[in-house]
Amino acid sequence: MSAEVYGGRAKCLQRLIRLDMPVPLTVALSFDTVRDIAQGRMPDIGAIMAPFGFAPLLSVRPSSLDPDWGGPGAILNIGMTQERHDALAATAGLRAATSLYLRFIQCYAVQVARLDPEPFDLPDEPTSEALRSMLAAYEAETDEPFPQDPALQLAEVLRSMARTWDGTTARLLRQAKGAPADAGLGLVVQAMALGVGRGESGSGVIQFVDGETGEPRIIGRYLGQSQGREALRDKRDAIPIICDDGGPCLERVAPFAVRELLEHGGRGRERLREEMQIEFTLESGRLRILDAVRVPRGARAAVRIAVALAQDGVIPREEAVLRVDPGALSTLLHRQVDPEAPRDRIVSGIAASPGAASGRIVLTAVDAQASAARDEPCILVRRETTPEDIRGMHAAVAVVTVRGGITSHAAVIGRGLGLPCVVGASDLEIDRRRRVVIAPGGRVFAEGDVITVDGTTGDVLAGEAPTIPAALDEAFRTLLGWADEFRDMGVRANADTPQDARLAHDFAAEGIGLCRTEHMFFEGERIGMMREMIFAEGAAARRAVLDRLLPMQRDDFAALFRIMAGKPVCIRLFDPPLHEFLPSDRQGLRDLAEGLSRPLSDVEARVEALREYNPMLGLRGVRLGITVPEIYEMQARAIFEAAVLAGQDGEPVVPEVMIPLVSARREVELVKARVDAVASAVRAESGLPFTYRLGVMVETPRAALRAAEIAQHAAFLSFGTNDLTQMTYGLSRDDAGRFLGTYVEQQVFEEDPFHTLDLDGVGELLQIGAERGREGRPDITLSICGEHAGTRRAIEFCRRQGFDYVSCSPYRVPAARLSAAQSAI
Ligand code: PEP
Ligand code: MG
Repeated sequence: MSAEVYGGRAKCLQRLIRLDMPVPLTVALSFDTVRDIAQGRMPDIGAIMAPFGFAPLLSVRPSSLDPDWGGPGAILNIGMTQERHDALAATAGLRAATSLYLRFIQCYAVQVARLDPEPFDLPDEPTSEALRSMLAAYEAETDEPFPQDPALQLAEVLRSMARTWDGTTARLLRQAKGAPADAGLGLVVQAMALGVGRGESGSGVIQFVDGETGEPRIIGRYLGQSQGREALRDKRDAIPIICDDGGPCLERVAPFAVRELLEHGGRGRERLREEMQIEFTLESGRLRILDAVRVPRGARAAVRIAVALAQDGVIPREEAVLRVDPGALSTLLHRQVDPEAPRDRIVSGIAASPGAASGRIVLTAVDAQASAARDEPCILVRRETTPEDIRGMHAAVAVVTVRGGITSHAAVIGRGLGLPCVVGASDLEIDRRRRVVIAPGGRVFAEGDVITVDGTTGDVLAGEAPTIPAALDEAFRTLLGWADEFRDMGVRANADTPQDARLAHDFAAEGIGLCRTEHMFFEGERIGMMREMIFAEGAAARRAVLDRLLPMQRDDFAALFRIMAGKPVCIRLFDPPLHEFLPSDRQGLRDLAEGLSRPLSDVEARVEALREYNPMLGLRGVRLGITVPEIYEMQARAIFEAAVLAGQDGEPVVPEVMIPLVSARREVELVKARVDAVASAVRAESGLPFTYRLGVMVETPRAALRAAEIAQHAAFLSFGTNDLTQMTYGLSRDDAGRFLGTYVEQQVFEEDPFHTLDLDGVGELLQIGAERGREGRPDITLSICGEHAGTRRAIEFCRRQGFDYVSCSPYRVPAARLSAAQSAI
């Protein structure tokens, strides 16, 4: 029996039976059978029921390929009729018989006949009167008596479960969890173990690890006279499995059953090679195992469980590495709100997904996408989220909802994406018309105001709260250590600041693959100098200002070299258009005129002269390097002097210098000649014979096409897939967020190509660029450094093309290490 045909639950039950566990008789229906049922072709019900003998009571459970894809709820006690009730009353007692019949009518009415649940609430006492009244309610709602033919009952149950799986809501929910559009559902028909009746009867659930931490621990609940998972829902009378505080516990009530459960649990772990949660029933003292599912687990537990299984020799290390979803690692890496810092709490809700993030309030998914396109972190605040909000959630750094619980859409998706998430913040009011949110005490926060979401505690805080880095445990380090043994592709980090570099180092990045230098010119007094430089007349005057920036840049680079302690550091020369450094509003222009002691009209004229209709395709990157060469010369000098300095008191440094936005070989030749000249000068001045590597960013389609000739002047090519995507599609990376949602909805694009690497188009350019680059220079180093670089998809693709490494943001380094290992295994 394969899971691809019958689903995971059916497969698992078959294995439990083979392990000699006391599983009641089970019949599995395949995906194809269930598809037929949904389309009105009912199989022979008599044949399905035949193995169960005379007047059986049955349950039906869903069995999809991946249990995380959900499915219709289980339906128990099928076959309960008046006749069966009377017979059961004689053996198990009237109370038990009535209780089972009531449960079945309720479940059938709500889940199969889809009646309003209210008239079918279970009574406190299962009396004959309650039964009469529930049967009457059923008849009143449907104009038909409650069905008394078990075969008809089963047929209706199968039909309703098959149709539920086909419904739009179920489809959207499972697709959000990665299910393919044609995912199938199997159904498992099983003889009931009653859990209600004479002797010790009841049901419970047990597992042997903690689902949050993954620590070994026996956890579970048992509820006498109950069925299914009632023990988990009942807070009042359910008892723990293991005695810990002197209160009632199953160990005391039925010690033999607990011994048996522990034995089955241990065997199950070893033979099913997984930590399982076991659903069991005691039927007049007899243990029955009804079902076992993978212990539902958070990311921390997923890592710890996989590592422990491998350390115990249950699974090989490769499999442990394959078992952890790289995307889920981000939850472990997330920063937390500093517990020592003061908290300005706006409102509290349910802590649905851990971690902390600050950003501007947005109230719609579309605004979230627009904000992400501007590189502005945002927090999506919604009454509740629906599948249409998924793209907005992708774009947000955190999510807050007014409604919903721990399994609401926002919570489930938030955890899946590793987004800090607070749900059920019911004291928060959203006024869509005024575009504000109103917190308790009448505090009003407008769209655009910064808040912090603490998904670990459930608090929403005003402003940007101080945060601390995540604590990474031993299991995490062990797993990534194994991943490093299996992978054959390097992982570096994109790091601009000493803080980024430290993170990169802590996450074991093998170097810095992209240091964007422009942010360094926005800091403190530097922005003023940059503006002075932009206004300077002629090369000499520009050089004079740049000479004042030189020592600052040198310190920046020396700090990075020291932190990376001999690992490669790749510094990209200046990239953005100059106008980004100039003020755009009138007051800013006036301040600038004052600072430069120039007439306002002069300043305005210069700003106007620098204005471009299409700045991202304008005077930036290497084009600035060619037309205003003094900037690159200063940066090259700062890099080499810093390498000399850092090399003197630490590991020797071989800096990598990278030219952005290249589209022609001659651009590289010109810049290379100047950078070489600076290197020679610094060698002569310092007396130290350092070396360096010069590389080119492949960000324009032309650079990819002409990679063979460009490679002749470059030691490495680094593909910047952000710009390459922008230019391949002719799609502005800053503005496209506004309409990409519609494009994806209407299936023009399968996904937002700025999030998900377009393997067909951009991928072809990567392939061509890599092949031609190698043609031009066989030993060329190839890498990718756009936002896509940390994703499993891009890593797999680049590995196939023979790339040497990927470079992604520091927080994505662990996931990239794991992805690289998974694609190599
Ligand atoms: C890129 O374009 O992919 C890149 C890494 O550079 P930036 O994002 O700084 O343009
Ligand atoms: Mg770029």
